[in-house]
Amino acid sequence: MTRRLPLLINGEFVASQTDQWIPVTNPATQEILCEAPAATDDEMEQAIAAGKAAFQTWKEVPVSERARLMLRYQALLKEHHDEIAEILSQETGKTFEDAKGDVWRGIEVAEQAANIASLMMGETVENVARSIDTHSWTQPLGVCAGITPFNFPAMIPLWMFPLAIAAGNTFVLKPSEQDPMTPNRLAELFQEAGAAPGLLQVVHGGKEQVDTLLTHPDIKAVSFVGSVPVGQHVYRTATDNMKRAQCFAGAKNHMVIMPDANKDQVVSSLVGSSCGAAGQRCMAISVAVFVGDSKAWIDELASQFAQIRPGAWNDPEAAYGPQISPAAKQRVLKMIEQGKQEGATCLLDGSDCTVEGLPDGNWVGPTLFTDVTANMAIYQEEIFGPVLCCVCVDSLEEALALVNNSPYGNGTSIFTASGAAARKYQHEVEVGQVGINVPIPVPLPFFSFTGWKGSFYGDQHAYGKQGVRFYTETKTVTSRWFDSDIPVAAGPNMSIN
Ligand code: NAD
Repeated sequence: MTRRLPLLINGEFVASQTDQWIPVTNPATQEILCEAPAATDDEMEQAIAAGKAAFQTWKEVPVSERARLMLRYQALLKEHHDEIAEILSQETGKTFEDAKGDVWRGIEVAEQAANIASLMMGETVENVARSIDTHSWTQPLGVCAGITPFNFPAMIPLWMFPLAIAAGNTFVLKPSEQDPMTPNRLAELFQEAGAAPGLLQVVHGGKEQVDTLLTHPDIKAVSFVGSVPVGQHVYRTATDNMKRAQCFAGAKNHMVIMPDANKDQVVSSLVGSSCGAAGQRCMAISVAVFVGDSKAWIDELASQFAQIRPGAWNDPEAAYGPQISPAAKQRVLKMIEQGKQEGATCLLDGSDCTVEGLPDGNWVGPTLFTDVTANMAIYQEEIFGPVLCCVCVDSLEEALALVNNSPYGNGTSIFTASGAAARKYQHEVEVGQVGINVPIPVPLPFFSFTGWKGSFYGDQHAYGKQGVRFYTETKTVTSRWFDSDIPVAAGPNMSIN
């Protein structure tokens, strides 16, 4: 009998009463690993109600106790790091090294959540008027919801619930139905760390369950990470229902290569940042912009692309794993075909890729296009596969114009030996996360994850100070005390009644 994943409601892992079960498959083999329930309306209601009830007591728990829960959680996550990564590899197909990175980047956010006291500190000003002082506090919102994508099933849930809960909220997480085993394991460890019932609920399902969260009056804030169309739907629906929302969406990230850059660093960074995780990263580099003579390095790039291959999660020679699903693979293949038809030159075509011993995996080989222009679909659309498009331009200004014309603004990088070129690029580029000789510039959790334009809808970004602002409301208190109100000392022992 196939294992069925439970829901987490009010501190209990419960079997769903649903009659709709979603198979979770190993994308390297198509083996069904388990089934996830599409939570029923009643179960959704119970999950939100549990969060609402728990909020009443949790918001009164001293901040240092909330921080200690995160310290215990962080320690447990570290203890179980490899075990979580193995579950993650099974359901995503990620190589073990990559899966460990996914878990580790999440642990770092849980670690940061343990600093919640200093992150929540307000401000004070004395004598804003004669004898009047003002101070501000940050207070939690209530029940917050998180909706997460398939591509980082540990890191992205951990971007959300530890910080929200440390700030005094309670949380309902709706992870991707494609890899829900990892989030369930994260939730088990959170309970083991001593989380009170109702702090975290995990519900499973798809659009219907998401829409319940977006429209329910007891959900106060929604964090979403996923594709552009769904991100737009989530942002519009959540804000239409008067909730605050932060929605992180798709991307098309450019790396600009100046002719004075270090060729070896450029080539190896391009291979890793475009094909790593089978290109299924929102910060993957999917467009290489060669400025001037740097285009001479494309041959070397093609020969290094040809040397890597996908493979099983525990194959140390594999550069990356499969696409998450047969449908995702078909979409990538369709985009490759379209690129050829649009007139781009396919220097290396990964469409017909097999991996020995794993005939049913969703494999796509490394794919490299040159002669790509900005009007082509392979340039404009997020492919989310191991496909790199090379564009050649004559100047840094031209490169900047190209990048700034993109509707996306998640990440970008420039490789150069020139401080002036790097300074100009970082200053003028309209992208929220910029790397200088760093291909994938994901900020650590004391900063925030700051996508722009079509890659983000909202104003406060994920984790760091902005994450805490997102999950809290600011209250200002202005007070005045009159001298005449000071109680007069009574008797020799100065006691005051
Ligand atoms: P997705 O949009 O298909 O799914 C994301 C979540 O939304 C899942 O939990 C899913 O169940 C739910 N969902 C799907 N369709 C829905 C609908 N019609 N209505 C309501 N909810 C729905 O995304 P995905 O394929 O899981 O993830 C890949 C995408 O996520 C890529 O576009 C990638 O760029 C993006 N992503 C962005 C960031 C970022 O920080 N900007 C990070 C990671 C991934």
